Parts: sequence; structure tokens; C-alpha cells
Amino acid sequence: MSQFIAKEGNYFGMNTEISYKVFGRHAELAIVAMQHELLRLENRLSRFLSESEISKINQSAGTEPVKISSETYKILSFALLFSEVSKGLFDVTIAPLVDLWDYKNAKRIPTKSKIKNILPYVDFHELVLNPNDNIAGLGKLGQSIDLGGIGKGYASERCIQILKQFDVSAAYINIGGNVVTHGNKPDGSLWSIGIRHPRQDSSLIGIVKVTSKAVVTSGDYERYFFDWKGKRWHHILNPITGYPAESGLISVTVIADRAMDADALSTAIFVAGMHKGMEFLALFPGVEVILVDINLKIFITQGLKDCFQAVNGAKVCII
Ligand code: ADP
Ligand code: MG
Repeated sequence: MSQFIAKEGNYFGMNTEISYKVFGRHAELAIVAMQHELLRLENRLSRFLSESEISKINQSAGTEPVKISSETYKILSFALLFSEVSKGLFDVTIAPLVDLWDYKNAKRIPTKSKIKNILPYVDFHELVLNPNDNIAGLGKLGQSIDLGGIGKGYASERCIQILKQFDVSAAYINIGGNVVTHGNKPDGSLWSIGIRHPRQDSSLIGIVKVTSKAVVTSGDYERYFFDWKGKRWHHILNPITGYPAESGLISVTVIADRAMDADALSTAIFVAGMHKGMEFLALFPGVEVILVDINLKIFITQGLKDCFQAVNGAKVCII
């Protein structure tokens, strides 16, 4: 029985809520190691910590490129590739625009002219990576990198790698809506992951059953404010217009083997909308999605037919 020791808990980290459930003889030690790893990654990748590698790149924008670790280099290469593949709908240099919208404090829409002035700084083409000596630099003073759209995905991938080193037999980790699972539950059953209802706080639109997969959701209900007309302004921005994406989708869940793919794709498909989003998806074989549109209609890809269940028998279209 000893291999079934379960540890669960939750705490605040990486600027979000982290919860976990871990099964294994060394579950306790494994969790300590996982928490250390998350702290290490935050210190390396957060643009809000002035000593992080990402801050170093941001601070030297428009001047000298800087030397970074091979790990940060790998994450930035992926982010850059993803920015290219999505034709800039995902843009790793989105930070100046995110700062302008200032979701933490502001309840006001920035003026059109402010948005127009910031847009030239959002341009991933200006991120230069030199693979020979792990050097990264931003072309223009005022530019900055934001890994908000993929960092939690990478971190959750690392959590699973660490837990495996401690012979954990099964695990569930949720970093602010980025869920990763490892193995089956001790009774052999799959993990049931609830997909949040985008308009009802404590309800679900459905449940998806998975094993050893990442389940990552981007939604317009995570960080937002309402204007005086009652219109919602949320935190997933269209880098072309400078405004929150209005693609017709309000929640995008991506189910993939790799959490970083799922995280980047969920943000990109949210911005791109259903039609264009499905074109990106075709570049990632084996990746499945659950989409909710503005009318709360649910769409799933073929591969989820037997593992997604909508609550209250809501109608689900297969795309
Ligand atoms: P969450 O962080 O709520 O889980 P996402 O994974 O979709 O949701 O990431 C949203 C975050 O990504 C934003 O808070 C911002 O930091 C960043 N971001 C917003 N729009 C874009 C975009 N178009 N491309 C890249 N990153 C973005
Ligand atoms: Mg994302």
C-alpha cells in the first residue's frame, strides 16, 4: 500500500494559485523539490523580478544583448518560433501592451493614441537569439518580453519531470489553470479535469478524462474589468489591434502531451478564433481542443468524443 501515499495541498506561487495531488512513497519529498523548482523558475523567468534573466534582457533592450542560461534560451526559442508560426497573434514581446492595459490596477481603457504609440514595440522580429553562445537581445529601447502566455506551461512540465525523479506513480498539478497529470490514479482510473464555465464562477461546462496529459485553458474570465457600459476588457490581447482579442471565443482549452505547447496554443487560438485557430492546430498532431464561443456553444475536436462530457447534457459540436 505504501506506494499509494497521497499528498495534496495548495499555495500561492508564480503569481497565481498552485494546487497539487501527488501519489507515491516519496510524495512529501517530491513536493518539496517541486516547490523549489517553481521558485527557481520564477526567479529566472519573471519579468517582475529585476534580477531574472528575462528582466536582464528587458533592461538592455536597444543596447547590448545579454548572455542567458541554455534553459531560458530554449524557452525563448520556442516562444519566438510560436510567434512566427502564429503570424504574430501570439507575440512574446507583448509586455509593453500588457503594461499599458495594467490589469492589476486599471479599470480604464487606454486611449487610442497610447495604444497606437505602443504597438511598434510589440514586434517579435526584434527579438534576436544567437544559438552559439546563448545570447538574447531586443532591438528597440522600450521593448520587453512577457512569458505570461507560456511560462506556466513550461513550469508545469518541469514539475512532472521532478516528480518522476521521486518515483511518483500519479500526480495532478494545477498552476493557475494550467493542469498537468501524470499516470492514472491509484485505483487505475483516469484523472477527471473540470473545465470552468466562463460565465458562472463555480460551475463547470464539462469534464475531460485524461492520463499523462496537459489540460490548459485560456479564458476571458481570468483577469478583466468591465467599463461603464458593462463591456468586458480582458487580459488576452490581440497584438495587431492592441485591444483584448474579440475572436468569438471566450474559453479555449488545449489538451496535449507537452504543457508548453498547450499553454502557447491556448493563448494563440484564443486570439485567432475558431477558423484560424484550427489551422494552427493542424500543425500540432495529436493535440485536441475544447472551445466555448460567445454564445456559450461548446465545440470539441474528434479525439475528445469519448473523453469529454458536458454537464447537464449541453449540446457539443464536433469540429
Ligand atoms: P493565463 O495566464 O490567464 O492562464 P494565458 O496562458 O492565455 O492565460 O496567458 C495570458 C497572458 O499572456 C497575459 O496575462 C499576458 O501576460 C500574455 N499575453 C496576452 N496576450 C498575449 C499574446 N497575444 N501573445 C503572447 N502573450 C500574451
Ligand atoms: Mg497560454
